[in-house]
Amino acid sequence: GASIDLDGVHLSYGDTAVLRDIDLRIKGGEFMTLLGPSGSGKSTLLNLMGGFARANAGEVRVNGAQIDHLPPNRRDMGMVYQNYALFPHMTIADNIAYPLKRRKMSKSDRAALVRAALAMVDLHGFADRRPSQLSGGQQQRVAVARAIVFRPQILLMDEPLGALDKRLRDEMQSELRQLHEEVGSTVVFVTHDQEEAMVMSDRIAVMNGGRVEQVGTPHELYSRP
Ligand code: ADP
Ligand code: ADP
Repeated sequence: GASIDLDGVHLSYGDTAVLRDIDLRIKGGEFMTLLGPSGSGKSTLLNLMGGFARANAGEVRVNGAQIDHLPPNRRDMGMVYQNYALFPHMTIADNIAYPLKRRKMSKSDRAALVRAALAMVDLHGFADRRPSQLSGGQQQRVAVARAIVFRPQILLMDEPLGALDKRLRDEMQSELRQLHEEVGSTVVFVTHDQEEAMVMSDRIAVMNGGRVEQVGTPHELYSRP
């Protein structure tokens, strides 16, 4: 996985500072969680790392290179958006295959990877449906499948398990951990759920009011002496 470095990052919308003085080093292959209440800036910070937003000051570097110098299709990055952002007119299989098609992969290679991704998120049998025919939780799993299908160096996920019931959430938590370990992707995972952050993460960045207040392992941050 690739490293991600933020140095002195500041981002405002008009007069409102949304990210302030952010310094954060995410190591290659690390599972980093952004934990904090709604409105604390987690999504904005994730969007910045994905190149979907621009800082007013400071730098965002991926493997040492400033991110805005890399065109989006050269970024080896999978993203799960909070609203899933599935293509409504495409089947589930075509949604998941989309990043592979953009990478000009052959049809038979695509089919094999799409089957594997569908199996991982427990959606075999849904390949030919459309997003509107799926529940919210199922759509969320399609979004995860689309982000992981090409085994990216960096995986950015905005509350990817929020719409799932407890059983499926537990299952997907261990699947995502396993995938992270197998592929070695650097993962940045957004949640407001401390328990989820503790079971998933190598380290947690605790956000509040647009700042990163603390960074540490789950043990360092939450174990009682
Ligand atoms: P949450 O806080 O639950 O993560 P938000 O309501 O903050 O979700 O954000 C949902 C989406 O709306 C995000 O894409 C965010 O960028 C956008 N958004 C949030 N607040 C504003 C705002 N004041 N003006 C414009 N867009 C906003
Ligand atoms: P979180 O993901 O932690 O809920 P966000 O990054 O979505 O937080 O939002 C942080 C703050 O930035 C919120 O106060 C939100 O209303 C504001 N915000 C987010 N996107 C926009 C936007 N496009 N325009 C104006 N304000 C925004």
